[in-house]
Amino acid sequence: MTAHANPKKLIKGATGDWEVIIGLEIHAQVTSNSKLFSGSSAAYGGAPNTHVSLVDAAMPGMLPVINEECVRQAIRTGLGLKAKINQRSVFDRKNYFYPDLPQGYQISQYKSPIVGEGEVIVDLSPTDQIVVGIERLHLEQDAGKSLHDQHPTMSFVDLNRSGVALMEIVSKPDMRSADEAKAYVTKLRTIMRYLGTCDGNMEEGSLRADVNVSVRRPGEPFGTRCEIKNVNSIRFIGQAIEAEARRQIGELEDGRAIVQETRLFDPGKGETRSMRSKEEAHDYRYFPDPDLLPLEFDQAYVDDLAAHLPELPDGKKARFVNDYGLPAYDAGVLVAERETADYFEAAAQHGGTKRDAKAVANWINGDIAAYANSVSLSVPQTHITPAQVAGIVDLIGDGTISGKIAKDVLALIIAEEKDADPRALVEARGLKQVTDTGAIETAVDTIIAANPDKVAQAQAKPTLLGWFVGQVLKATGGKANPQAVNDILKAKLGL
Ligand code: ADP
Ligand code: MG
Repeated sequence: MTAHANPKKLIKGATGDWEVIIGLEIHAQVTSNSKLFSGSSAAYGGAPNTHVSLVDAAMPGMLPVINEECVRQAIRTGLGLKAKINQRSVFDRKNYFYPDLPQGYQISQYKSPIVGEGEVIVDLSPTDQIVVGIERLHLEQDAGKSLHDQHPTMSFVDLNRSGVALMEIVSKPDMRSADEAKAYVTKLRTIMRYLGTCDGNMEEGSLRADVNVSVRRPGEPFGTRCEIKNVNSIRFIGQAIEAEARRQIGELEDGRAIVQETRLFDPGKGETRSMRSKEEAHDYRYFPDPDLLPLEFDQAYVDDLAAHLPELPDGKKARFVNDYGLPAYDAGVLVAERETADYFEAAAQHGGTKRDAKAVANWINGDIAAYANSVSLSVPQTHITPAQVAGIVDLIGDGTISGKIAKDVLALIIAEEKDADPRALVEARGLKQVTDTGAIETAVDTIIAANPDKVAQAQAKPTLLGWFVGQVLKATGGKANPQAVNDILKAKLGL
């Protein structure tokens, strides 16, 4: 991390430059079959109030029982964030009234969370990387949902979500632009998807962010922050930060102070508005939940979970750089989704043959990703198989086709010949590169004979050779080996 403000990330105000400071509190739904303190289903959706036990409905005298699977998932996530695991943590009651919170309090962790400090490495571009500190991760219950649009005069409550386990992951105020915050959330989501601890589905609310924003003059201490609650898409996180930073700069430049408060982002208007000020903030009267013992486990339990973690994105990226000789950035792009990383490896190793891994990565991250994007799929979800990618790379590698024809082969596989073996396709369509110098020489001779004026021009100005190359390639349907064409032309023109 840089101690000095990065000039490229500063925001220009009317009176000079400003730096934006961002810290995120992410709520991530734990992947588990049942809820944090009850056995009812944690599945998304379902008819209202069908995933509700007596504990979730807070019937008098019901007692919470901790779900070990949720504890395991929180520890595994902590390990994935290279964080300190606390062998003793405490569940507290966070007291407030809300119609969709039948207990009258949320069970959360306050002073003693299950996971302490950690860090996340975030790639921003081929040359720009930041490290975002993690302050803590704690376990807590989700609340139910009030439904205001089901009846003209009444509101209903759906408790299906009530009691579902959430991990609240609090970052340090280490981000300095909307792009950094978006890249951080994306990376955090990637890590949890690899671990299988949160599906990261933002449409279903499995991942939500409270976004803390302040601004300062470069080099000055942190300014007063505002917290934008419950932002539910990565794009909106970026928009909310930009809107809020602009608002704060406007206030300060007009001579007003920033008041610490909670705000909401309105995506339609592209602005944030006040929800409640610090003075109106809840006093939650936290105290340890008397129904639950402190949560304790031993180091052997943690060590066993650590030993069985899957390969995580940073490790996979390093391995791709080492084993396949990929540039770090290309490797980073491939590992962003585990399925894409697996697809790359399947293509790079297809048939047990060693092939140009950088070329494989270029096809996957380039033309194939562009096609996948255009049909709103990920690369592995398309019908194009790793074997076909390997086939295309091999055909270029052994000189059977040029890079240009390879694009045509891919286009055929995309549109017409979905299951085709690239080599058979090239054979059947007569797309083979002409390396037979006799055939190329004939084409060259014909073109030279037909264009005596151009020959004279090219002999005076050798850069005009390109025109001849174009003509020969045209005459051979783009199949002539470009290097051979060049060599033969130079020889015949005496260049
Ligand atoms: P609280 O205890 O009031 O919730 P925390 O210290 O836990 O406050 O911080 C909450 C979040 O706000 C964290 O993600 C932190 O990084 C972020 N944060 C703290 N100070 C600032 C600041 N000056 N500007 C932006 N974000 C901040
Ligand atoms: Mg907080």
